[in-house]
Amino acid sequence: MQVASMHFKERAHAKLNDAQLQRNLGKMQGKFIAKRRASLTELDDFEGTREAGRAIRQRALDNLDTWLETFEASATRRGATVLYAQTPAEVNQLVLEIAARHGVNKIIKSKSMVSEESGLDHAIEAAGMAVVETDLGEYILQINDYEPPSHIIGPALHKSKEEVAELFHLRHGTERKDGIEELCREARQVLRQHYLAADMGITGGNFFVAETGSVVLVTNEGNATLATTLPKVHVAISGIEKVVPTLEDIATLMRLLPRSATGQSISNYCDLLTGVKGKGEFHGAEHMYFIVVDCGRTEVLASDVAEALRCIRCGACMNHCPVYQNVGGHSYGWVYPGPIGSVLTPMYVGLERAMDLPEASTLCNQCGVVCPVKIPLPDLLRKLREKSFDRALRPWHERAGHRIWTWFALRPRLYATASQAGVRLLHLLTRADGMVRSLPFGGGWTDGRDMPGPAGRTFRELYRARHAAPPKSQ
Ligand code: SF4
Repeated sequence: MQVASMHFKERAHAKLNDAQLQRNLGKMQGKFIAKRRASLTELDDFEGTREAGRAIRQRALDNLDTWLETFEASATRRGATVLYAQTPAEVNQLVLEIAARHGVNKIIKSKSMVSEESGLDHAIEAAGMAVVETDLGEYILQINDYEPPSHIIGPALHKSKEEVAELFHLRHGTERKDGIEELCREARQVLRQHYLAADMGITGGNFFVAETGSVVLVTNEGNATLATTLPKVHVAISGIEKVVPTLEDIATLMRLLPRSATGQSISNYCDLLTGVKGKGEFHGAEHMYFIVVDCGRTEVLASDVAEALRCIRCGACMNHCPVYQNVGGHSYGWVYPGPIGSVLTPMYVGLERAMDLPEASTLCNQCGVVCPVKIPLPDLLRKLREKSFDRALRPWHERAGHRIWTWFALRPRLYATASQAGVRLLHLLTRADGMVRSLPFGGGWTDGRDMPGPAGRTFRELYRARHAAPPKSQ
């Protein structure tokens, strides 16, 4: 997929001025949040389950090489083939080789974010084969000239029902339908033909289970079930970090994933696929391949933001992020949007190609609070900000501002005097309604919003007063 993360600011600006997108985002806002909150009340001990989820994912990362070897051995015993891809180009090459080996003409795909990283669909089409996305959101984007996804669990969330209706009418050549059920029925009829004609199914993998060599697929549409049982070949593609030690671990993670993602106690479909179809078995692929993908993950694992690899791709951090809610997923310019994307994208494509993403956060910690595997996203974003400062990637005036601030902060008396002067200036700028409308050198901030003027005493004054007060008598 093309990288456009270096243009975050321009893209976000354009999205904020896109009235249709703002209406679509507005309708979506809050739905996920309320459903997630309601579903968590069903758990006796959500924080305990969350800590268990964190521990499971961390245990896997701490000994990733061992669990990957165990996974490979278990999967191979059940007749599957495990392949490794270091780069996006290798992912595509391996898929094309498998397709050639089995004489494949047509491929159906269930959602796979890793294949978005490598632009797999384009590689398949360039090799002369047909490929059809079967996740409804991904299908909508594919028939809209491969529009990029804007959310990791709802790739077409930025589109309204009316936009989808018009797209189906144009692409399918059918009468325009406006009801959601009618649109889903039309998509089902179109996709069913593709399922029946496909020779190979490609899926992602929510988890790879080391002890059994299984892949876990979590969907709401059942498309992964069809994509893995109807064609003779199944290829599951996912990152090296998606391995977990045991089936018992999946039980814990499945308490967290659907609730954090869509607010469901359990998703409509959860496929656990182990090995190829055995003798006398009716369902399953005759040939099963796993492509286990690195594509920058080992560098992340060795870095100080390695905790980001615990991610189970639930999307809760973006659903709760005030920046994502306003600018939408396309502003981030690559596969993964929102707070987790602002950590992963700079690590995968290079900080210099995504240096505004770690800044695209208010550090309010909503993302950190809701993350089901306790990834400290604001801390990781702060570490990436430090890296861009150290590598002189930020504009000169930002770096100069930091240096001046550091100089003052290291001289407490001078810092106090400068702070007092700053507060006085803010008092002078505060209007009768208590708001500051414009800041010298801060127009970028106050052009779009008002700032409350200083109220009451400063922190230093309060601190001094508290320490000067005599202790209360017993
Ligand atoms: S970082 Fe946490 S909240 Fe965000 S998608 Fe990953 S698991 Fe979900």
